[in-house]
Order: sequence, then C-alpha cells, then structure tokens
Amino acid sequence: MLAVMACWLLAMVSGLCWSARYTALTTAAVVAAFVATQGSALAGWTGWLQLAALGATPWLLAAQRLRDAQTVRRLHDEEAARLAKLTAAARSLLSLQRSTDQMDAQITQITDLYHVTKETSRAMHVKELFAASLDIAPRLLSASGLRLIDLSGEPPRVLRAVRGADGRMREEQADGLLDVERAIIQEALASSSPSAGGTGVPRLAWAPLWREQHPVGVLVADGLPDDQVRTLTIVANQLSLQLARVTLYQQVESLAVTDALTGLFVRRHFMERAREELTRSKRHDLSCTLLMADLDHFKEKNDTYGHLVGDVVLRDVAQLLARNLREVDLIARYGGEEFVLMLIETAPAQALPIAQRLAQLVAVHPIRAYDELLTQTVSMGLAAFPDHGDTLETLIERADQALYAAKQAGRNRVVMADIRYPQRKVSEDDI
Ligand code: GH3
Ligand code: MG
Ligand code: MG
Repeated sequence: MLAVMACWLLAMVSGLCWSARYTALTTAAVVAAFVATQGSALAGWTGWLQLAALGATPWLLAAQRLRDAQTVRRLHDEEAARLAKLTAAARSLLSLQRSTDQMDAQITQITDLYHVTKETSRAMHVKELFAASLDIAPRLLSASGLRLIDLSGEPPRVLRAVRGADGRMREEQADGLLDVERAIIQEALASSSPSAGGTGVPRLAWAPLWREQHPVGVLVADGLPDDQVRTLTIVANQLSLQLARVTLYQQVESLAVTDALTGLFVRRHFMERAREELTRSKRHDLSCTLLMADLDHFKEKNDTYGHLVGDVVLRDVAQLLARNLREVDLIARYGGEEFVLMLIETAPAQALPIAQRLAQLVAVHPIRAYDELLTQTVSMGLAAFPDHGDTLETLIERADQALYAAKQAGRNRVVMADIRYPQRKVSEDDI
C-alpha cells in the first residue's frame, strides 16, 4: 500500500507539473503497484473503483493545470493587447497634445499680431506709433530694449526704450545717434533683409521699415534671442504698414489745414483756432485784434500779367505777412486775395501800428514773378475784442466794414473799426 501511495504521489506531482510522459509512467507505476499489492481487491467492483480513482486523479489534476495555464495565457494575451491599445492611445494623445501646443503657439502669435495691429492702428503720429509699439512689444519680444530709427527726415532721429523691472518698456531721452545706430542705418540702406548681429554688439537684431520700396526706418531690438528675429520682422512689417498710414494721415491733415498756394491755414482751421483764442481771451480778460487784409487792384495784376504771375504775387505777400507775425499770432487765407489775421493778446492801440507796419512792408517789398519785378499794396480793416465785439463773426464783420472803409479811402491803408476814415496813409516812416 505504501508503494501504491508513493507512486500515486509521484503521479500527482507529474500531473501538477503537466508532464504527460512522467504522468503516464507514474500512473502505470501506480497501477502496477496496486495490482502487485492489492490485486485481490480487484475481485470486487470497489477495487476497480479504487484503481480507477488512483489512476485518473493525476490526469484530472494535469487537465485542470493545463486549463489554468491556458486561462493565464489568454488573460496575459488580453492584458498585452489592452496594454498595446493603451500605449497607442497614449501616443496619439501625445501627438494631439503636441499639435495642440503648436496650434496654441500659432494662435498666440496671431493674437499678438492682432494686438500689434489694433494698438498701433490708433496712432496718428510716429511718436504715438512708437509708444503703442512699446506697449505691445514686450508680449512678443523678450528684448531688453527697443529703438526706432526714423529715416524719413535729415538727420535721422532715434526713439529709444529700455525694459524696466516690471517688464514694461519705457521711453528714454534720446540725444543724437550712437555709432552703433549709424552702423545699422548703413546696413539697412545697403541690404533689403532683416539681420541679426554683425554690428559688434552681441544679440542686436534689426529689421527695416519700408514705404514704397524705400527704407524709411529701422526697428532695433537689444538682446533679442535668435529665434525671435522672425517675430521682429513681422512686427517691423506691421509697423511699416502703420507708418505708411500715419504718414498719409499727416499729409491729409496738413492738406486740410493748409492752403496749397500760400501755405497759410485755410479759413476753416483759422476759425477753429481763432474761436479757441477768443474763448481764452474772455476767460483771462485779455484783448485780441482781428485783421482783414485785401490786395489792392489785384484783378488788374491778373489781367495785365496773367494768373500765374498773380499766383506768385499772392504767395509772396502771404509769406511776407506770415514771416512778420509772432509765432502765437494766426494768419489764414480767407479766400481769393483776402487774408485774415488774429493778433493774440493785443489791444487795438498796439494792433494799429503793427498793421500799419505790415501794410508798409508789403508796399515796399519787390516781388520777382517770372520775368516781372512787381510791387503790391494791401488794405486792412481791424476790429478788436472786447472793444468792437465779443464773437468771432462780429469781429470779422466789423473788420470787413473797416476794410471797406480803407478801400473807399483810397487803399494801401489800415482802418480801425468805428473810425470812418484812416487818420493817415501808411508811409515809409511807419516801418
Ligand atoms: P480791390 O482790392 O480794390 O477791391 O480790387 P481787386 O481787383 O483786388 O478786387 P476784385 O475782387 O475785383 O478782384 C480780386 C481778384 O483776385 C479777382 C480774382 O481773379 C483774383 N484772385 C482770387 N484768387 C486768386 C488766385 O488764387 N490766384 C490769382 N492769380 N488770382 C486770384
Ligand atoms: Mg482786392
Ligand atoms: Mg477781394
């Protein structure tokens, strides 16, 4: 019985290890040992039952063990498949993240550009344009300083700004061009593309600003990382567009306030400015005097010498009058060959000799118009605030009446409102 049990144990271990050969051998040994030692028990059916149980259990164990192993393998395979799927998903998530990051960077760049356009498009003058650029530049460029070199005038001007501790750019007092800026201008005028370095200063990048294919400025960034040179070019291109707009605006603005022939203010602009001055005079209890001036017998000039000569005479007289006024006084072309002037903080008693002097200057001024050497006289009417009126319209009306009186009295003279005829004709002594 002991031998049977020993063989059976061996068969069980073989079954457990799922070794078909050893299970078969040990099972045969179990059967043999049983037959040899318990052969008599085979006379009854219980003996056969015992033998069958002893022989079958190692195989049952082996079969169970095989099933378990297969289950484990299947689970393992499923797990591996799941893991592979998970890895693939993680990989596509990563690439998605990467393209999201790229898209984010592009969106940031587009948003920044939108801000550059939005902020700078409000500027109406170059200085405002630079100030707006300084506001947004720190968001786009990690430069330690910015400079805008304006090449539109002679000598070129430079606006400089440095980044403060709070990250914002602050404008600096700029006195004249530095050697490095002169070198950049030379490079900008010689080349057509943005450049980094090459000026002897580390990490100094610049990009030209263009107008109608001519460099009109240079945007310079101090301490700019190499990978931001492209952004600097984009900002410079944007500034070029805005610069063209600002220049156009200034041209239109100056055209609107300046008369093309004489270079004086137009009547509309004069009226606005004169109204402001009148308000100021009222507030501070000051006097001011309005003058209407009209060229004498100007039609004859045109008829005799032609309109082109007439134009030269008109321009010459206008500029002579403007040159002989103070900076604060106003002068405009009122229309045709008529001018309107406002002498600021000037009472009528002071204004009369000034007007007489102006009329005399015109009278003795030789005018070279093409081949002609001509002279021209002017008549003037004066009206003062507060003596003759307190609105611009009243002063113009009173001055116009006085001018009419001057014409009536023989021209080439100055008449103050309220006085029917001038005291005397202007003479050389008035100068
Ligand atoms: P008075 O001063 O004594 O009133 O005589 P006037 O001949 O100067 O005045 P009038 O109003 O008769 O003529 C003004 C002339 O000024 C007529 C017009 O052709 C001329 N004129 C007006 N504007 C211009 C201009 O822009 N260029 C030229 N050449 N002539 C002009
Ligand atoms: Mg006239
Ligand atoms: Mg006239």
